[in-house]
Amino acid sequence: MCFTMTAMLIPIDPVTAAEPTSLGTVAKVGLALDGVPIFADAPSVLEIGHMPALNTCGGHVDPGGWYHWHATATDINSVFASEGVDASCANVVQDATAQFAYAFDGFAIYGSLEADGSIPIGLDACGGHIGPVPGQTGGVYHYHANDSFPNLPKCLVGVVALNNLTTTAEQGIGSPRAQGGLNGPCPDFAAIAEKLGVEPTAP
Ligand SMILES: [Zn+2]
Ligand SMILES: [Zn+2]
Repeated sequence: MCFTMTAMLIPIDPVTAAEPTSLGTVAKVGLALDGVPIFADAPSVLEIGHMPALNTCGGHVDPGGWYHWHATATDINSVFASEGVDASCANVVQDATAQFAYAFDGFAIYGSLEADGSIPIGLDACGGHIGPVPGQTGGVYHYHANDSFPNLPKCLVGVVALNNLTTTAEQGIGSPRAQGGLNGPCPDFAAIAEKLGVEPTAP
């Protein structure tokens, strides 16, 4: 049996597309700063209106066995508050001004407030705008979470890499088997570990 390996490709110099791309069923949204991928609404939400079994931080485990987010976890308590839901995310630090992720088009995703605590203005249909962000001079395009679930961008304004999420997992997003193909051979962990000068054992 292989260990599961997953690779994600995100542009470091984002390029705006001619038209925004709307996020369909379980579309790939981005990569959270904690290394966890973010997907849009699950099929159960779109097709039968049922919520998948998410934890109160907006995440759960993929059929392929790995964890992913369906919401901006660092600002999800404001969603519960605005929708009158008696729940809270206890395991992720809540900060509505913090950057949560990079979208797969390379633009950053922040919480529902600007870094100075003000409410974002002039958001486009995707939930983004051009404005100041910490650590950058001048205005740059970025997305904001909103206060309704899922508090993610509704579309992506930039271009994304081909095959931007691939995994050796047997099921779930990015799996070759899920896309009708077959899994490749297991990676040669012994050779990789020797090249890296580390022990080829699981932590
Ligand atoms: Zn999911
Ligand atoms: Zn902003």
